[in-house]
Amino acid sequence: MTAVLLVVWISGILVAWRDRNNSLNDSGRLTEALTRVVAERISGSLRGLDLMLQDVDIHSRERSDPTELLNLMRHRSAGLPEVRNVFIINADGKVTSSTLPSMLGLDLSRRPYFMTAAQTPIHGHLIITPPSVSPVTGKLGLVVARPITSPVGTFAGLIAVALNPEFFSGALSGVVEGDVDRAVVANMDGNVLARLPDPGLHVGSSIRSGPLFSDYLPKARAGTFIAPSSFDGQDRLASYQALNHQPIVVSVGITTQAALRRWTVNTLVMAGIGLLFSTVLLGAALQLERRERERRGAETALKASEESYRILVDDQDDLIHRYTQDTTLITVNRAYARFYGQTPDSLIGRKWIEFLPDEERTFSLSCLQALNHIQPYREDRRRVVRPDGQELWIEWRTTALYDALDNLTGYQTVGRDVTDSHRAQQAISEREELYSQSFHRNPAIKLLIDPKSGAITDANDSAALFYGYPADVLKHMNIQDINVASAAEIEHEMAAVENEGRKFLRFRHRLSSGDIRDVEVYSSPLHVGGRAYLSSIVVDVSDRNRFEAELQAKTAELARSNAELEQFAYVASHDLRQPLRMVTSYVTLLERHLGETLDESSREFIGYTISGVRRMDALIKGLLDYSRVGRGGETLSDLDLEEVVADSCANLGLTGSSDEATVLVEHPLPRILGISSELIRLFQNLIGNAVKYRHPERKPEIRLSSRRQGNEWIITVEDNGLGIGAEHFERIFGMFQRLHAEGEFEGTGIGLAICRKIVTTHGGRIWVESEEGAGSRFMVALPASRAAARGLATH
Ligand code: ADP
Repeated sequence: MTAVLLVVWISGILVAWRDRNNSLNDSGRLTEALTRVVAERISGSLRGLDLMLQDVDIHSRERSDPTELLNLMRHRSAGLPEVRNVFIINADGKVTSSTLPSMLGLDLSRRPYFMTAAQTPIHGHLIITPPSVSPVTGKLGLVVARPITSPVGTFAGLIAVALNPEFFSGALSGVVEGDVDRAVVANMDGNVLARLPDPGLHVGSSIRSGPLFSDYLPKARAGTFIAPSSFDGQDRLASYQALNHQPIVVSVGITTQAALRRWTVNTLVMAGIGLLFSTVLLGAALQLERRERERRGAETALKASEESYRILVDDQDDLIHRYTQDTTLITVNRAYARFYGQTPDSLIGRKWIEFLPDEERTFSLSCLQALNHIQPYREDRRRVVRPDGQELWIEWRTTALYDALDNLTGYQTVGRDVTDSHRAQQAISEREELYSQSFHRNPAIKLLIDPKSGAITDANDSAALFYGYPADVLKHMNIQDINVASAAEIEHEMAAVENEGRKFLRFRHRLSSGDIRDVEVYSSPLHVGGRAYLSSIVVDVSDRNRFEAELQAKTAELARSNAELEQFAYVASHDLRQPLRMVTSYVTLLERHLGETLDESSREFIGYTISGVRRMDALIKGLLDYSRVGRGGETLSDLDLEEVVADSCANLGLTGSSDEATVLVEHPLPRILGISSELIRLFQNLIGNAVKYRHPERKPEIRLSSRRQGNEWIITVEDNGLGIGAEHFERIFGMFQRLHAEGEFEGTGIGLAICRKIVTTHGGRIWVESEEGAGSRFMVALPASRAAARGLATH
């Protein structure tokens, strides 16, 4: 700044100096011109005067008449008002002729000009005396004289005029004007002949010792110089010119002060402007410096604050980072670096956009670019996959940063791990979605009811469909609008749900069509946000109720006819045996009575009769047994099948080491809840059949085993007997169904029917698997769990 000012000022000074010289040159040209004008004027006047003197000289030689000469002199001088007197001095110094009579005869030989002329007559040149007070006239005047030469060329005297000094000062008139303040006419001796201003004051004074005569005139007859004035000591710019043919020097001057006035003013103005400019510049410089100082101060403060900011942010768990517009990282905290498995230093200068998957980059950049002064802040939640593959949800809060001049300098983003809360929120929204779907998109009719007011707060589409109201309308209705029961009843029933834990309520609901439907309302009390709700599923049971009623009626009818039938079967079988026994007894008595009289054929007939009657008895007994199953009134008890099977074998006369058959039991057999006598009968029938339907070539071998399957025990009775054809698997469990002829195997065909009834009344199943000739496997499935057994108890 100083250097600039220095250059400006030096340039200014140089320009000023050049202008000064120009101004001086201009003034010099002015004074030179004026000097020439004055010189011309004086030269002209003196030439006129000289011509007059020459004329007088010529006439003085030609005419001897003094009066005529005097007249001529008077006549010729009349045109020159400054000429006071024309006179002729002879070689001795006496005035021989004069237009002023008083001078006639005067001896002027001692006058300096005469003496000079007499001693060194310079022909053709005028002598001009310094102004002095004339002893003759007593006036200030000067003498201009022209030497006269004799015909032989010797000094013959002078022709002279006494002049009013105004002769010269008149030539100066009009010159001293404006800045030009001085004009001098001097003779060659330095005597001042005229001077402006103050013409009278300096006449007679000498400027011989002045710079013009001492320094400049000796070197050149004309010129311009600057020097202190001989008169007032002021510096002046002066031009001078020595006349060519007369001993006169003319000088016109101007004080340098005046010559340089305009320059001075200009320079002062320029200097003022310069000063102003410098001041402004200096002020600006100072201001700039102050700003710079402030900036540095601010920078230092900023650095300090950046440092404390860095320390602060470094300790944060949030992911803090600052970056430029192209996401080049400038500052990152430790948490951010750690997040990417890096050190802070290694991240600086890298672009975080490169950490993102390709498909997310454009969107992320456009989000940044959307920030501006009005909206400099943005929050978004994004899924981020860390370098180690861990998937996190981060909430990024980004702020655009602007400097004091509102230029965007970059961005700061603070990321917070919100994975847990995000997942929690997601779980909530999933649950809400689940609720919404399970509630609204459910085929069941669902209502959400405020138990206090009975207001329906929510209803699903199925409800809208069922009740015939749009869902929105239904949501603004009260349960009393659709429930036929009185408000008090409804309230009482709903309270039962809350207080007594009733699972469902039976109501009658009115549809928009006016139809009234029987419904079961399954309500569960809910408490959400301090409010109680009844979540209700409405089941239209009108049809079911009707069916149930019909079914009940039919069941009752069936039970009644069954009971009648069973009663009939029991009575019939019981009562039929009596006459059969009588038939047997009497036929036997008849046979005994007739004794020897009976021929062989009659005996044979009687034998058939008794056998038929016995068979009928067996059949009736079987029928009686069958009808007795489940009617014994015995209670269920916890039975060990091992014992049941052992009892069955004992009843059949079978032991493990029996010669007739081998019974193998795979221990242990389970415990079963059942009726002891019936289960003994069951296994007795099955094992008995296995022995009965033995293979002719094999000793019967019966294997009993059990296995658990779900809630059942499957007990298998396997034999190595005749086997059964697959087409008979179902048939053999029917009443009186036999696969063999009467004579082949004894039996009534009721045993397996009784088995099925026993198993069925125990809540189980029975079936057979077999291959003809290879043996049979009878399977009995009985309930295993206590619950199933309990169900059986109520059967
Ligand atoms: P019954 O033995 O009195 O004839 P069941 O009802 O006990 O009557 O049996 C019906 C029929 O099933 C039998 O006649 C027999 O043909 C056949 N049967 C039953 N058990 C077996 C068995 N273990 N092996 C082969 N056939 C059998």
